[in-house]
Amino acid sequence: MSPDLMEQGVERLQHSTQSGGRSAAYGRVLREGELDLSHGTVLYLEDISVSFDGFKALNKLSLDIAAGELRCIIGPNGAGKTTMMDVITGKTRPDAGQAFFGSTINLLRHRESEIVRLGIGRKFQKPTVFEQLTVLQNLELSLQADPRVLACLRFKPTATQLDRMDAVLTQIHLKSEATRQAGLLSHGQKQWLEIGMLLMLEPKLLLLDEPVAGMTDHETERTAELLLSLQGQHSLMVVEHDMKFIAALTADDVRKKVTVLHEGSVLAEGTLNQVQANPQVLEVYLGR
Ligand code: ADP
Ligand code: MG
Repeated sequence: MSPDLMEQGVERLQHSTQSGGRSAAYGRVLREGELDLSHGTVLYLEDISVSFDGFKALNKLSLDIAAGELRCIIGPNGAGKTTMMDVITGKTRPDAGQAFFGSTINLLRHRESEIVRLGIGRKFQKPTVFEQLTVLQNLELSLQADPRVLACLRFKPTATQLDRMDAVLTQIHLKSEATRQAGLLSHGQKQWLEIGMLLMLEPKLLLLDEPVAGMTDHETERTAELLLSLQGQHSLMVVEHDMKFIAALTADDVRKKVTVLHEGSVLAEGTLNQVQANPQVLEVYLGR
């Protein structure tokens, strides 16, 4: 753990033993694997390095995301954006560095499947819905430990799960398509369905890799609305090239941060206006 986080933790413990009452509850003992957001940080990466045959895909990358934040990540091809998501989700182990989910969960000590259960959902670039199943069945499928189609047909969701499915269908604009075969949906609708499948698991942190690639302008706008409706309740990391989309995602709050990756590290971080005016960013990212 970083010295900074440790110091905050010590401070919090001291505070809770001294004063009792409300702050004692604040400093309560967490169950193992429970996400601790009391410091306000949901994701904490420090000096992460990943090499592939000597090539540094990530080079001392440090970044943190606040609980409830929607963070946009931009950067040229090959900057390391996808590799960063691979590290967070346990797909790739870094050569060096630290990765914490909340202040207590060391992501580098967990397997990919455990990280999903801890509350990190990831949307890959291509939609991976089950085309033969209906929209509803796809949502059901995401709730199951056994992802085989046969298991899905036998699955009976609980009342709570049915309520959740209904809420998610509304959120992803697919309520009227619930009984339709997923293969018949448009590309954008498939992407929303996949986001819905992730939402069924109520992730604390959602990672989205180029979610609007290949979408129509209208679908892109609806996706921005959807993601904006998720912030606060969830924390989001959105990697995207489409600057109009980034502008839509940051339009609700002028202070919202955008991070620019380049050659495996953070080149710049600030509001969209700040990073767009940054000469280094203009040089490497916008090619001027
Ligand atoms: P981005 O998503 O920002 O476009 P990536 O994270 O996919 O960038 O890739 C960063 C760099 O690492 C690229 O140069 C890519 O070719 C390289 N890379 C990524 N994954 C691998 C891998 N499994 N083996 C070798 N090189 C890789
Ligand atoms: Mg990528």
